[in-house]
Amino acid sequence: MPDARRGTLPETMQAVICHGPENYQLEEVPVPKPGPGQALVRVEAVGICASDLKCYHGAAKFWGDENRPAWSETEVIPGHEFVGEVVQLDDRASTRWDVSVGDRVVSEQIVPCWTCRYCLRGQYWMCGPQDIYGFKRRTPGAMASYMIYPAEALVHKVSKSLDAAHAAFSEPLSCALHAVERANIHFDDVVVVAGCGPIGLGMIVGAAAKFPAQVIALDMAPARLELAKLCGATRTVDVTGENPVDVVKDLTDGYGADVYLEGTGHPAAVLQGLNLLRKLGTYVEYGVFGADVTVDWSIISDDKELDVLGAHLGPHCWPAAIRMLEAGKLPMDRICTHQLPLDRFQEGLDLVAEGTKSIKVSLIPA
Ligand SMILES: [Zn+2]
Ligand SMILES: [Zn+2]
Repeated sequence: MPDARRGTLPETMQAVICHGPENYQLEEVPVPKPGPGQALVRVEAVGICASDLKCYHGAAKFWGDENRPAWSETEVIPGHEFVGEVVQLDDRASTRWDVSVGDRVVSEQIVPCWTCRYCLRGQYWMCGPQDIYGFKRRTPGAMASYMIYPAEALVHKVSKSLDAAHAAFSEPLSCALHAVERANIHFDDVVVVAGCGPIGLGMIVGAAAKFPAQVIALDMAPARLELAKLCGATRTVDVTGENPVDVVKDLTDGYGADVYLEGTGHPAAVLQGLNLLRKLGTYVEYGVFGADVTVDWSIISDDKELDVLGAHLGPHCWPAAIRMLEAGKLPMDRICTHQLPLDRFQEGLDLVAEGTKSIKVSLIPA
């Protein structure tokens, strides 16, 4: 955007504003002005995440209930998976991030406080306030023509040769890779990935990169299972026609899988994973659940002595995610199914909600 570099930025821009659950409006708002150490970025693409949709629909994790306070705030521009071009920044920001005006950059979705217990111990992704772009007033998101990367942000350069929607996929991919890292996969492992949406496909690519004996992908949609193969799955299971527990036991002399990566957030996928793992297996949970899960915990203790691990965000996995995208390790043309202009954001949210017609829906601000 050469105009911007010449200092003739527009005064206002289009932005989606969240006023509360199911109340998102397209509005004309001032273009933000970067403060000391910050960058102004022209947004090239922003992906719509399942979590954006849960926030839109008013889930308790975002808006609170009798057991927890609200985490999301209103009057915030949504969007946490994005890529953009730097249009303005000072020397301090340029030096800290090693970026210049004109560079294409992503920012990790969490903007750490760098002062809490977790940040001080290097566990920045668990930062107390959890200021993630698009949910908090400190960190307005990317469903707008421009956005600010705050001074505390973690910023990475991305090649301009990538399609913008593909580059923005570095966010979900880094999350998937973190789940894979939690699993500590060994060369002879049989790894099962539940769900072949954006996160599941990323897990498959990441797991396959560890070169285990098998990467088995589970889903209900044949089109997604086809993509799972392109991402490196050695075997796919359509769970509407085959029982994954039987398939896995058949492939492992009756023992079960070594690793189960769960990214669907469906309660049934939890018991399925506990049942298809072998004794001493590893269960990694990345899903966010809309309902409580009830299982017999003795499977974890007495029966199998499992390692059950959680995973959140994509710490330390962004450089690898960006390398994988730049190296063309994923069928991104088929993963990024829909690119819509910003003023069709409602259609984008509806597409994600519908669930079967899309994999990754992206908005492209003007
Ligand atoms: Zn996300
Ligand atoms: Zn912190």
